[in-house]
Amino acid sequence: MNYRIKSNLHFIEKIIEEDIKNGLPIEKIKFRFPPEPNGYLHIGHVKSIYLNFQLGIKYQAPVILRFDDTNPIGENEQFIESIKQDITFLGFKWNKVSYASDYFQTLYEWAIKLIQNNQAYVDNQSKKNIKIQRKNSYTIGINSKHRNRSILENINLFQKMKNGFFQEGSCVLRAKINMESPNMNMRDPIMYRILYKKHHRTGNKWCIYPTYDWTHGQCDYIEEISHSLCSLEFENKKPLYNWFLNKIFDKKKIIPKQIEFSRLHVSHSITSKRKINFLIQKNIIRSWSDPRILTISGLRNKGYTSSSLKNFIQKIGITKRNNNIDISFLEFCIRNHLNKIAPRVMVVLSPLKLIIDNYIENKTEWINTQNNPEDLSFGKRKIPFSRYLYIEKNDFSEKNKKNFFRLQIGKKIRLKSAYIIQANFFTKKKNGDIDEIHCTYDPESQYNKKNRTHHKNTMKTLHWVSIKHSIPIKINLYQTLFLKKKPEEDEDFYNYINPKSKNEIIGQAEPSLKQSQIGTHFQFQRIGYFYIVKNNHNNDITANKIVSIKNQWKKKIL
Ligand code: ATP
Ligand code: MG
Repeated sequence: MNYRIKSNLHFIEKIIEEDIKNGLPIEKIKFRFPPEPNGYLHIGHVKSIYLNFQLGIKYQAPVILRFDDTNPIGENEQFIESIKQDITFLGFKWNKVSYASDYFQTLYEWAIKLIQNNQAYVDNQSKKNIKIQRKNSYTIGINSKHRNRSILENINLFQKMKNGFFQEGSCVLRAKINMESPNMNMRDPIMYRILYKKHHRTGNKWCIYPTYDWTHGQCDYIEEISHSLCSLEFENKKPLYNWFLNKIFDKKKIIPKQIEFSRLHVSHSITSKRKINFLIQKNIIRSWSDPRILTISGLRNKGYTSSSLKNFIQKIGITKRNNNIDISFLEFCIRNHLNKIAPRVMVVLSPLKLIIDNYIENKTEWINTQNNPEDLSFGKRKIPFSRYLYIEKNDFSEKNKKNFFRLQIGKKIRLKSAYIIQANFFTKKKNGDIDEIHCTYDPESQYNKKNRTHHKNTMKTLHWVSIKHSIPIKINLYQTLFLKKKPEEDEDFYNYINPKSKNEIIGQAEPSLKQSQIGTHFQFQRIGYFYIVKNNHNNDITANKIVSIKNQWKKKIL
């Protein structure tokens, strides 16, 4: 098995290799991905998913999809379904689905055990008071006046908490650790709080809910997770994770090992669920799957492929180092993938009429062209050429400019896969816009290998469509939702919304797109990569722009 090759291992793989060397049986290796079902997964989660599931594949170890559903507020079935769908889209398979709520009874019994061992107590103080007494890492905390309640009283109170005798917020169960610990997480953390909220799985069975701290490690332990991988912000929680585990540890089982890696941040985006929710509430985006946000479903709707996302994560690597990645790198990964898989077509986004005066009226030539000049296995198709064409507005310059290499009066250019033309004059509309450009073509210049080499270095090639044969296509042009590189840093993040993040236009496409299937990708030549999101085969086609053909960021100063 090639995983034994030591080179190129990331630091977590090195730890696992070490554990195997020190006697961990390979069949005991097990991972989990533990999302909270209170929102959709985002690009940061892809890192965690990729890490856990790739390790599962590598060590042929099970991976559990465990929903961390300890907070009934904001969690629901819709999020569970979306999370499953997203992981499936990424091409990963979990061995089992579980829920933290499956273990509520066990957690409750263990909590009783902790109370019996004088390791937990019921505190009737308000949350606010508890926080004040905790102080900060420079000042030692103060013990609660309820800290030394008798075991019997604690058991009695905790059972009453469970049985609904007390109001929300009136008391909590706390672990009895150390109010003087330099690690704030160890200052008697809360294990249970009262919430009279219906849970999407357990209904109204419970009115006390365990905290993340009291749940996570215990679930890892129950499920015999060998390596519990989480993001760096949990590093300070590790002593608490281990403290709890030591209280319930049974020597027959393995004790999970928590390992932290850095969180992924991608520029010009936000991923916080709270902030995404805010954008939905304010109607700035339509949903969790809006193509302008970096949720997995948003990226998928926009046209991102799963392999480009996995490739992105693989390239940035798994480390503990700061993981702020520029969005241009994500775009690079999708561009790279689509370059390999997307057939080429011609679409004019902003049409300008061009007339070839010496071309026969009503004649149509069907020109044979490669679907992907870089990969002949894509085959060929026929595109119609005629006297009346559309070219891109910005491919023509009214004034003759020295450094303009596209079309201008008196200059020649090649029409892609077709002829060389020369522009002779143009006419204007009343409003001053250009109406038509009049050209002549060279009948001897039809595109073939010989001509191509001859003009290769000197002549620019433009894309075009034949007006008579072209079909309208609705195109969603997207830009980043934020104009600021790190909008998440700011509570007023919504002030940096890009007003041009979505722009709907109608372009003109070559007729072959009539047959395009929803969910397929194309390169619109010279423009970018696009994704067909609607086609009812009645000239009603919509495509999303995924990414420009070239990196646009070099030019922009945002
Ligand atoms: P958010 O802060 O976006 O709401 P979260 O951390 O609350 O996210 P969870 O559903 O708890 O989201 O995350 C599930 C797993 O994914 C956790 O193990 C978490 O560490 C990991 N994860 C979340 N965000 C990122 C990220 N940006 N980069 C890497 N891993 C992440
Ligand atoms: Mg979380």
